Amino acid sequence: MRQLLAEIHRARHEEFKAFVAEHVQPAAARWDLEEQLPASALAALGARGYLGATIAAEHGGRGWDTVVFGLLNEAVGRGSSALTGVLTVQAMVAMALQKWGSAAQKSEWLPRLASGAAIGAIGLTEPGGGSDLQSLATAFTESSAGTLRINGRKRWISCAQFADVFLVFGKLDGRPAACLVPRNKICINPINDLLGFRAAGLGELTLRDAEVPAANLVGKPGFALSHVAPVALQYGRISTAWSAIGLLRGCLEESVAWAATRRIGAAAMGELGMIRSLIARMGTDLEAGALLCHAACAAQDERRPEVFQKALMAKYFASRAAVRAASDAVQIRGASGCHGSSPVSRYYRDAKIMEIIEGTTQVHEDILGRLFVDQHVH
Ligand SMILES: Cc1cc2nc3c(=O)[nH]c(=O)nc-3n(C[C@H](O)[C@H](O)[C@H](O)COP(=O)(O)OP(=O)(O)OC[C@H]3O[C@@H](n4cnc5c(N)ncnc54)[C@H](O)[C@@H]3O)c2cc1C
Repeated sequence: MRQLLAEIHRARHEEFKAFVAEHVQPAAARWDLEEQLPASALAALGARGYLGATIAAEHGGRGWDTVVFGLLNEAVGRGSSALTGVLTVQAMVAMALQKWGSAAQKSEWLPRLASGAAIGAIGLTEPGGGSDLQSLATAFTESSAGTLRINGRKRWISCAQFADVFLVFGKLDGRPAACLVPRNKICINPINDLLGFRAAGLGELTLRDAEVPAANLVGKPGFALSHVAPVALQYGRISTAWSAIGLLRGCLEESVAWAATRRIGAAAMGELGMIRSLIARMGTDLEAGALLCHAACAAQDERRPEVFQKALMAKYFASRAAVRAASDAVQIRGASGCHGSSPVSRYYRDAKIMEIIEGTTQVHEDILGRLFVDQHVH
C-alpha cells in the first residue's frame, strides 16, 4: 500500500496518524463509554481543516484529493469509528452541496462546514426503512410565498445530537427532493445504547409542519435520489471503507503485539500455527482492502466511470473484513479482549455497524452482482 502513495500522501498520512495517537486513541474508550463526543474533539478536527478535507479551497476547505481524504479516515478509524462518523457525514453533506447546491447555499454553508463552525447531518433513513430509498415517506409541500412545509420522521441519524444543519430527503408532489433544514426547525431525540458507534451522537428527527424557504431545496425536485444522494453516498462509502481499514489495522497491530508477548505454556502465542493463521488472514485482508480503497479513490480523483463500482467493492470488502478481523482479534486476546480495557472489544462492536451504514452488505451484493452480470451481458 505504502508504495502506491505519493510522497505528499505519505506525509499527510503520518500527520493524521500523529494527530490520532495524541488526540483520539487515548480518549476513544471514554467517549464510547459516555456515548458522547466532547466539543473539544470536534473543535480539534475543525482547527486542522479535517472537517473540510474535500471542500474546495475557494469555499474555505482544504481541497484535498480523495486519496488524502481516505487516509484521514483510515487514521481516525484506527482511533475511533464514532469520530470518523463525523468526518463521513460532514463530507456527505458538503460534497452534495458543492455539486448540487445553489450559489447562495454554497456561500452560506460550505465555509462553515469547512471550518467546523457548522456540523452537517444527513437524513435519509426513516422508521419505515433505510435500504429502499424509493419509499421515502417524508412529505414536502410547497406553500405560498416560496415556503416549504415538511412533515416526517428520520431515524438513526448520525451527529443529530450536535449538528447545525440537516440535509433531509423526502418527496415533493411525489418527486424525490432534498432540502437543507436548520436544527431549530426539528425536534431531535437522542438515540442511546447502540451496539457500536456509541459516541456518534445518533438521534431521531421529527419534522412537524417545519417551514423553511423553498430556496433550501438542494438540486431540482425529482433529482434527489438520482443525483444528490449518490454524491453523498459515494463519499459515505469511501469514508466508511477507509474507516474500516483503520479499524482492521488496529486489530492487526493489537493482535500482533499480544501474540508476540503472551505466553501459552512455554511458547509465545505467535508460535502457534492456528494463531498465525488468524493473523495471516488479517494482514492479507488489510492489504487487499487498502488496495481496493486506494483504487476507488484514484478512480474518483481521475473521474473514471468505474468509480461507483470501485467504491461499492471497497466498502463491501473492507466492512466485512473488519468484522472478521475484529472477531479474530477478540479471539486472540481471550477474556481480555472481551473487556473495555482492550480496544478490540470496541472494534468488535463498531465493525458490525460498518456492514449496515452507507448501504448494507446485502444491498452492496445486490448492486454489485447486477453490475457484474450486466457487464457480461453487454
Ligand atoms: C450507527 C448508525 C449510523 C447511521 N447513520 C445514519 C445517518 O447519518 N443518516 C441516515 O440517513 N441513516 C443512518 N443510519 C441508518 C442506515 O443507513 C440504515 O440502518 C441502513 O440503510 C439500513 O436500513 P434499515 O436499518 O432500515 O434496514 P432495512 O432496510 O430494513 O434492512 C433490513 C435487512 O434487510 C436487508 N435488505 C434490505 N434490502 C435488501 C435487498 N434488496 N436484498 C437483500 N436484503 C436486503 C438488509 O441488508 C438488512 O439486513 C445509521 C445507522 C447506524 C446503525
